[in-house]
Amino acid sequence: MIRLDHAAVVGSELALRFADGEEIYLALDMLRRACPCAACQGEPDALGRVLRPVQQIEGRGFELQRFEGVGGYALQLFWADGHSTGIYTFDYLRRLALIP
Ligand SMILES: [Zn+2]
Repeated sequence: MIRLDHAAVVGSELALRFADGEEIYLALDMLRRACPCAACQGEPDALGRVLRPVQQIEGRGFELQRFEGVGGYALQLFWADGHSTGIYTFDYLRRLALIP
């Protein structure tokens, strides 16, 4: 499993360094829009269809207040508008970094 060595908010980005030496920088607004929680991304219904809710993110919703490690495999992000249900796995974060 990937280990996270260091994480810090630098300007409008979240900077992460992993134990394998990979460093990534993720724009906070992109991170918020990619919030993986059910409220933001929708949950599949019984037929596996996902109805994506429309995200209304306003004001300080793109401001990252703090973050916490979860079980050594993920980060929980706490946004300034009170939203904090998104658990971003390291794998997910590294995949987000690949999106141009
Ligand atoms: Zn969310």
